[in-house]
Amino acid sequence: MKKVQTDASEVRLHGISGSSGICIGKAYLVDREGVDVIKKYAINSHKAANEINRFKNAVSKAKNELVDIIKGLPSDLRQNAYILETHLLLLNDKMLHGKTVEIIKNESVNAEWALKEATTQAKSLFSSIEDPYLKGRSADIEHVSNRIMRNLVGFKDVNISGINKRVILVADNLSPAETSQIQLEKIMGFITDHGGKASHTSIIARTLEIPAVLGLGSASHIINNDDIIIVDGMEGLVIIHPEEETLVEYDERIKKYAAHKAEIKRTSDLQAKSTDGKVFKVMGNIELPEEIVTVKDHGGDGIGLFRTEFLYMNRIDFPDEQELFEQYKEVVELMAPKPVTIRTLDINGDKEIYGAPKTKEANPVLGLRAIRFCLKNPDVFKTQLRAILRAAAFGNVRLLLPMISGCEEIQETYRLLDEIANALEKQGLPYRRDIHIGIMVEVPSAAIIADAMAGLVDFFSIGTNDLVQYTLAADRGNRHVDYLYNALHPAVIRLIHHVVVAGNKNHIKTFMCGEMAADIMNLPILIGLGVDELSMSPQSIPAIKNMIRKFSVSECREFAAEVLKKITTEAVMRLIRDTYGNKLINDLKAEKE
Ligand code: PEP
Ligand code: MG
Repeated sequence: MKKVQTDASEVRLHGISGSSGICIGKAYLVDREGVDVIKKYAINSHKAANEINRFKNAVSKAKNELVDIIKGLPSDLRQNAYILETHLLLLNDKMLHGKTVEIIKNESVNAEWALKEATTQAKSLFSSIEDPYLKGRSADIEHVSNRIMRNLVGFKDVNISGINKRVILVADNLSPAETSQIQLEKIMGFITDHGGKASHTSIIARTLEIPAVLGLGSASHIINNDDIIIVDGMEGLVIIHPEEETLVEYDERIKKYAAHKAEIKRTSDLQAKSTDGKVFKVMGNIELPEEIVTVKDHGGDGIGLFRTEFLYMNRIDFPDEQELFEQYKEVVELMAPKPVTIRTLDINGDKEIYGAPKTKEANPVLGLRAIRFCLKNPDVFKTQLRAILRAAAFGNVRLLLPMISGCEEIQETYRLLDEIANALEKQGLPYRRDIHIGIMVEVPSAAIIADAMAGLVDFFSIGTNDLVQYTLAADRGNRHVDYLYNALHPAVIRLIHHVVVAGNKNHIKTFMCGEMAADIMNLPILIGLGVDELSMSPQSIPAIKNMIRKFSVSECREFAAEVLKKITTEAVMRLIRDTYGNKLINDLKAEKE
């Protein structure tokens, strides 16, 4: 947290934007009886069994509470039930449950202390992982542990659903279970001292579409009950005791934001057609089947990227074929006849999973990641490919291969697909082999030999998140090289151009599913370069569709030709601002206001 401006009355705190939107209201401090003040005391070793029983009782009460919360989830939050179901699993997890029992037995200490110790150990295991997603799971351990602890020491749970005035919640942290009890007519938004963008709490906030700012450090100590605060979820800003002038400014922004959001959402189901008649498909990126609802709600024309690795995370084994098949089939059927682009496992690199052999690589992002891991572990790969070919019999499936760096990887995958198709045929199971197969263009070598690759596949999907990282040799997760990491670098733009040209020559389409596609500032360039389809996080779909309708492909082409002449990132950005500043930035402002 950074205090950027303080005067007698107004205080501004900067945190992380968890969910966009703006609200002004009275603060309501979530009063959490301190479960951290836990004392250690020794117990007689023959009383260990009693202590273990006391712990198990607390676990079973915690379980009942969670089951009740899941049962009572309002329909718009059902898609997030998996988060709470994960918490149910964590209640009996070896790291937490097993370890606590072990500590009580071995150290003859009270259950509270043993649980606290086990929690610290489990959390540090997760915190040491680089991947922000898995790092965030340390918060899940904490939430589950707090719930057991409250039952152990007899403290009451925070009763969010019991709040009966319209307020903004201020808390040190909110668990997904607590967040999911938020009633929209009561809670306008929330802010927390902890948590980040990838935390499940912010995922739920985005689903609820209420403003949230997280990671504020010590906001809950600075803010008092009934203080007037402004939560600006777009900027990740919280203003305490706003001055009259600020209040007037934000009142105006709220009105504009609401009008703009309503307008673009109203039209999000309609197709995105440029002023000169080209229809662009705007698709959603998903990590879990539950997110289909959000894609549909935001007018998604299909799934442009299903990151399947998340079904392999938070578990200690690999899912089997049937489990994968059922999940894919569900997604495919729910989306049919619209396409679902299933990307095969993209693990290692920055997404390590349990159950994967620990490779101890010095440079995991350049290591045995994605297709490389899959081809070295054909059993894991074949299980997934079988599930995908089987699910393809139930709708419109495209298969997408990640991290392709050479033609051999595509050829080897085809060999496996043929083998699998033969086996499925013999087994008499329904399947489809004639689905569209494409590659992620995210490694510069693939972009450079796109002409050769185009002869082997049905489509390209440019993954700018990695393409930028590998082209500019700037780690996408390293804030020290953040200043280098920019999709508008001329090298990236030229590579995209090169890929589209190779695709066009070979009559295959080029899509984009990296974050670059979600930013309206990039839209004229992408349209002009000839990208055919865009895929992004579902919440960005309405704004992108809305903006596509304001451009013509021919004017964007001329613009892209000018962009391609620029030799610095700054010059590209300046050209966008000078040419389309008013058109794009005004819309962006309306989006922010
Ligand atoms: C990308 O690299 O742009 C991409 C979409 O894949 P991921 O973010 O999952 O690496
Ligand atoms: Mg990638």
